[in-house]
Amino acid sequence: MASPSQQVTSVASGDVMRLSVKTPQQSRKKNTYQRKPSAQVILAHEMVAGIMRQAESVFSSDKRFADRYVGMARRIAMKYRLRLPSGIRRKYCKHCHSFLRPGANCRVRIGVKHISYYCLECKKFMRFVHKSKSVKKNIP
Ligand SMILES: [Zn+2]
Repeated sequence: MASPSQQVTSVASGDVMRLSVKTPQQSRKKNTYQRKPSAQVILAHEMVAGIMRQAESVFSSDKRFADRYVGMARRIAMKYRLRLPSGIRRKYCKHCHSFLRPGANCRVRIGVKHISYYCLECKKFMRFVHKSKSVKKNIP
């Protein structure tokens, strides 16, 4: 109820141009999207983990099935707005969404501050930060 009174005062002072510029920002709503119930979120996490496990088991026989499983897992994660654990995030390419298995499908290189995954399907890199104490000790 405070905003209408402010508008009235600003109009009264004759500052109409400023008012027209400011109002869109003031009226912009915050993200009011409600979260899903926690029970559903927990279930969704379990489903994503199970689907990725299935993708892993299927990958050796058929890559396409594994990619389909990745798509299913991503769709569930997006619906329930999950932040997937890093173990799962490294199992698929963030560019082409194909299932990755180091040695078969992607190349892994360890840098000083990050681990880079090179997807052999789309020839793109993914980088993950790592905070390993052993690496820090080796640096002179
Ligand atoms: Zn890729």
